[in-house]
Amino acid sequence: MSESSLQDVMSCMGQPVAGNPTQYMMEKCFAAAGLDCRYLTFEVRPEGLGDAVRGMKAMGFRGGNFTIPHKVEVIQYLDGLTNAAELMGAVNCVFRDADGKYIGENTDGKGFIGSLQQTTEVDGKNVVILGAGGAARAIAVELGLAGASEITIVNRTADRGQELTDLLNDRVKTSAIFLPWTGVFEVNQNTDVVINATSIGLGNETARVPIVAESLSPRMVVADVIFNPPKTQFLREASDRGCQILDGLGMLVNQAVICFEIWTAVAPDAAVMREALEEYLEL
Ligand code: NDP
Repeated sequence: MSESSLQDVMSCMGQPVAGNPTQYMMEKCFAAAGLDCRYLTFEVRPEGLGDAVRGMKAMGFRGGNFTIPHKVEVIQYLDGLTNAAELMGAVNCVFRDADGKYIGENTDGKGFIGSLQQTTEVDGKNVVILGAGGAARAIAVELGLAGASEITIVNRTADRGQELTDLLNDRVKTSAIFLPWTGVFEVNQNTDVVINATSIGLGNETARVPIVAESLSPRMVVADVIFNPPKTQFLREASDRGCQILDGLGMLVNQAVICFEIWTAVAPDAAVMREALEEYLEL
């Protein structure tokens, strides 16, 4: 960290970004860790993104988060990417390296894996991922890199699902298959982990993910990326079937923990991070 009296600055850029909990979580953890850092949230229009990143570099920010709609577009303004971010083609975390270069990383999938590993190992597991958007892509690549045995991508839009499946097979070197999502999906009984990585359930406690609830069995770990509300209909059904469940709050907390550590080289207290998130969301 900086040895001068100047504070290290981190940022979050997105649009719309009001209501994003990250500043609240980060500042609570800076205080808990005794770090003299600041985290600021900026509403940045797509046409202003290049100038915003140039400003971030010119002012020497330590790093920052990029959220909707900037996760892909920000790449063109950066000096490099980590392997995972390059594979995903999306960045949610930027850091200044020892040479002063601004490097793009993606901690969404790593955050999910951190949450999953508190319940089960990834190595050798058969995983079903519902969805093929940004969150699904980040999770699928990290699961592949972590040694998942087979990944089944289930998506409504075939092109998107097939593209992610091809990426997993060709570049991540994981065995992956694509199943088009038509009607109600029945989960194969040799599945170990089922993940809802769609936006179904966001802000809607009763929205149903179209799967056959009876095909979920107690041997399966069932996870949802949705963090608001944290107890989705999907997770309630899985819990009723005796499955172990993981909500999206764990993923959100863990991806922020990883960003914090990348920027400060200090491991934050994950409990403080989670408490701050729950306080912010009034849970
Ligand atoms: P995208 O828009 O990139 O992808 C959305 C996915 O949901 C697509 O696969 C889309 O299918 C699918 N989908 C949406 N509606 C339906 C439907 N009615 N039926 C079937 N499939 C549907 O979004 P993201 O991947 O960026 O985000 C997805 C969710 O993940 C969001 O709710 C976001 O809040 C959450 N998230 C949570 C994080 C966490 O830390 N907990 C981190 C990042 C995201 P199709 O391709 O056919 O359109």
